[in-house]
Amino acid sequence: MHPADPRSNLWTHTAPPGPDCPALQGERAADVAVVGGGYTGLSAALHLAEGGADVVLLEAGQPGFGASGRNNGQVIPVYSRHSPDDAVATFGRERGERLNDMVAGSADLVFDLIRKHEIDCDASQEGWLQPAHRASRMRGIQSKHDQWAARGAPVEMFDAARAAELTGSPIYHGGWMHRSGGHIQPLSFSLGLARAAQAAGAAVHGDSPVLSIDREGDKWRLKVAGGVVRAEKVILATNGYTGNLFPSLRQTIIPLRSTHLATTVLGDNVARSILPGNHGLSDTRQALWAFRKDRFGRIVTTSAPVFTTGARDRMTTSTIKRLNIAFPQIERPEIEYVWEGIIAMTYERLPRYHELAGGIIAALGYSGRGIALGTAVGRMMAERALGKPASELALPAVPLKPWPMHDLVVPFSRTMAWYFKWRDSRD
Ligand SMILES: Cc1cc2nc3c(=O)[nH]c(=O)nc-3n(C[C@H](O)[C@H](O)[C@H](O)COP(=O)(O)OP(=O)(O)OC[C@H]3O[C@@H](n4cnc5c(N)ncnc54)[C@H](O)[C@@H]3O)c2cc1C
Repeated sequence: MHPADPRSNLWTHTAPPGPDCPALQGERAADVAVVGGGYTGLSAALHLAEGGADVVLLEAGQPGFGASGRNNGQVIPVYSRHSPDDAVATFGRERGERLNDMVAGSADLVFDLIRKHEIDCDASQEGWLQPAHRASRMRGIQSKHDQWAARGAPVEMFDAARAAELTGSPIYHGGWMHRSGGHIQPLSFSLGLARAAQAAGAAVHGDSPVLSIDREGDKWRLKVAGGVVRAEKVILATNGYTGNLFPSLRQTIIPLRSTHLATTVLGDNVARSILPGNHGLSDTRQALWAFRKDRFGRIVTTSAPVFTTGARDRMTTSTIKRLNIAFPQIERPEIEYVWEGIIAMTYERLPRYHELAGGIIAALGYSGRGIALGTAVGRMMAERALGKPASELALPAVPLKPWPMHDLVVPFSRTMAWYFKWRDSRD
């Protein structure tokens, strides 16, 4: 089965049934229309409905169809590349620290929502590990650790011996742990957010791709195949799946295909020896090695294909090699699921927030760290639509800035995987 086929995705086989989200039929009015049913859009719809707004969410597939139903499930409350001091240098002290606060609280937000709405998604808030794949990476880790620790984050450093205990792998030189991180079943979390949004009063429509957004008097008119929504405000939450509704928005990110693989269920003793504390792990490689266990004792990991043809077989072979190196105790790893999703990369590897035209706002570009951050940004956009001044938000609204030579870069974006591997090999 091709990795793009949703049936190839482990999470679709282990998620509980989702709520009923029928296609929109007919015409209706709303205060706010949300486009996109991933964490960003669902969190926005949930918080809008809780804030008393009449909200309609339109999703092209079903909730979690995009990256939110296909990812590794690691809930990580830190930036992918940057440190908190970088945020201050980029956005100024007040704004930078406000963003740092949002990022630092983002994992707790996810796990609090899970508890509050009793979302059945195999949630584990045991902590997130970033071990160093080279001794030289310990300096950068120490600096990030110190900066987050100075801001009160529950972080700790560990040495090589402790890394071996925490990960069950002999290959790491030490690392750091963030205790508020963890992992979830990502599709189940999406479906649970959709159910919570409905319970709060939001209308959540699946199978309703928005075909156009036009001005009609003082409202926005969103057209889907079977109907129309007229709303004063619109939230665009389409991330890596952004199409041509606003071509200039699509050009702000590179949609990077990322492949995920899951092993067969491991024997109890072997499964217990790997990540015995049930942590999530994303190491320091740019061509990331990320590992977590699912509820049944499979290892779920990531890989990035450069070519699409034969990708499934090549990814399987290279992942088995990787597992042999990282976890030699799995004697003959076998791969059961291979699937892919789209990551939205921005040039600066930070999400961007835009105020496009009277009442349309958008956020995208989590660059592979959007479970916690997307949920937090969705709540932030809900607050904005409910009237919070833009100057008080954690993310500043920035003008649309296309990626340089976007349409030329996209076809070559897969070669970034080679580039990242080359950079890792030079460390
Ligand atoms: C393979 C993979 C692994 C990842 N691993 C992690 C991880 O471990 N930890 C982490 O923090 N992040 C991870 N990420 C990133 C994370 O999944 C995303 O940042 C996050 O899911 C983004 O959520 P979102 O709601 O913004 O976008 P999405 O979940 O992509 O949702 C966008 C939605 O918009 C819909 N849409 C698009 N156009 C229209 C339209 N015209 N009309 C209606 N609907 C439309 C799409 O169908 C889609 O469902 C990973 C991503 C991938 C792909």
